[in-house]
Amino acid sequence: MALVTSTEMFKKAYDGGYAVGAFNVNNMEIVQGITEAADELKSPVILQVSKGARAYANHTYLTKLVEAAVIEHPDIPIVLHLDHGDTFELCKDCIDGGFTSVMIDASSKSFEDNIALTKQVVDYAHDKGVVVEAELGTLAGIEDEVVVEAGKEAYTRPEEVEEFVSRTGCDSLAIAIGTSHGAYKFTAAQCTRNADGVLVPPPLRFDVLEECIKRLPGFPIVLHGSSSVPQEFVKMVNTYGGNMPDAVGIPEEQLRQAAKLAVCKINIDSDIRLAMTGNIRKYFAEHPDHFDPRQYLKPARQAVKDMVSHKIKNVLGSDGKA
Ligand SMILES: [Zn+2]
Repeated sequence: MALVTSTEMFKKAYDGGYAVGAFNVNNMEIVQGITEAADELKSPVILQVSKGARAYANHTYLTKLVEAAVIEHPDIPIVLHLDHGDTFELCKDCIDGGFTSVMIDASSKSFEDNIALTKQVVDYAHDKGVVVEAELGTLAGIEDEVVVEAGKEAYTRPEEVEEFVSRTGCDSLAIAIGTSHGAYKFTAAQCTRNADGVLVPPPLRFDVLEECIKRLPGFPIVLHGSSSVPQEFVKMVNTYGGNMPDAVGIPEEQLRQAAKLAVCKINIDSDIRLAMTGNIRKYFAEHPDHFDPRQYLKPARQAVKDMVSHKIKNVLGSDGKA
């Protein structure tokens, strides 16, 4: 099948009590690892491209890599989505350039300005059969060019969501309930420590989520910054010469719980980076004489595939839903 929008995907996910994984893609190995996992498990999947990814790999390379994945995996629905579009022009470029879904993130603007810019993108996108994700509330953390200082984040105000969705016509809404971008999602001061000395972050605000669901029945909710920063990868990075103290993410059981509710799209980026980097560091340490990129990118790609398979089965619940 050709690339699809997320409309049907989200409807089935909402009704079925699962979420679709939205994984960030930056090169061939990442695209292959994600889509091989999704195909084997017969799962729908969203491949998303950030502004930083377009700057790194360029629009044409990324869209052609995704097109290749669609040809190689014809039995699963695949969405090509722009992650964190910050201007109308960027969204327009992607809509005109083959994406089936875009995010306009005007969450740092005032409520009225957020509505105005989101509506402008929605009008253009819908005209071309493309769907739009918008955002209300601000996540902490760092994601490519999106930087929000700790303490400047703000939970979504549930009393604003109905008006925002009805005035903009957006197709899905990213909300802030305590997830955060990057591999250092929380400061030690925000957390407790478990018996192994690993930081335990504050729980997600399910009360805010429930309140949003009540006000937007049937409407797909999106969670950004939802990597779990698996400690096995952090340990691997640190064992083989890296230095990532106190890297911590969102516990998987909380994401599973959110996926059973109205959360239809869960964004995962840092876990891909960690899986690749941990395995490449390990490979270099164990094979200091190797220098063929295929030698170390092969286990890195396999690590992406294994990580994504785990997410599909144990966190998203989207296996067998293609
Ligand atoms: Zn994000």
